[in-house]
Amino acid sequence: MSLINRDTTLRWIELFAAQMDEHRQDLIRLDTAIGDGDHGTNMNRGMQKALEKLQAAEQADPSAVLKTVAMALISSVGGAAGPLYGTLFLQLGTALAGHAEVDLPTYAAAWRTSVEGVQARGKAEPGDKTMVDALLPAVAALEQASDLNTGLRAAADGAEQGMLATIPLIARKGRASYLGERSAGHQDPGSTSTYYLFESAAAAFTS
Ligand code: ADP
Ligand code: MG
Repeated sequence: MSLINRDTTLRWIELFAAQMDEHRQDLIRLDTAIGDGDHGTNMNRGMQKALEKLQAAEQADPSAVLKTVAMALISSVGGAAGPLYGTLFLQLGTALAGHAEVDLPTYAAAWRTSVEGVQARGKAEPGDKTMVDALLPAVAALEQASDLNTGLRAAADGAEQGMLATIPLIARKGRASYLGERSAGHQDPGSTSTYYLFESAAAAFTS
């Protein structure tokens, strides 16, 4: 059984926030190698802020939950990842407006729009060693799936593959690009947090 509704969307966000707390040091370590070391702090602070905002008022549907998360990230996280994750959640929330329950085709289409939004904002192409490298295979897996359960699992696996595939790449976007060839051999922090986003979704929406 799998279902995307208000309660499971809240569960997804709670699980992702817990993952950002649990893996904060790992993300800091990855970002210290090829960036400025703040990705774990940024994501953890942003998601804790999101939980606070979610608790302060009741949300009617998945769209309202996702827009609340977006606003918390945009207002509390500086750097590249805050606005990019903010864009992602805002576009997801906008695409899902009016749906109390979300089916797989609607969810996959919402993700496609959201990733396009992230790409429009950050101008990252596949292979630039960014979160886009984890997002694209995950969204493709959702689009190709025939049921939500399998699709969410395949999306998390796709994000993981995309994350691992960033290791040999030379960064062409964000702070890591300042290192040029020295960025090769390190896993991209943003693709790593994105992998946790899809692992959290697979856990939250399936039972
Ligand atoms: P900052 O780089 O400003 O310190 P973070 O450390 O929180 O911000 O986030 C870094 C991550 O953001 C990178 O690992 C990468 O995945 C992602 N990122 C950076 N620039 C872009 C971009 N232009 N498009 C997509 N993702 C990006
Ligand atoms: Mg950083």
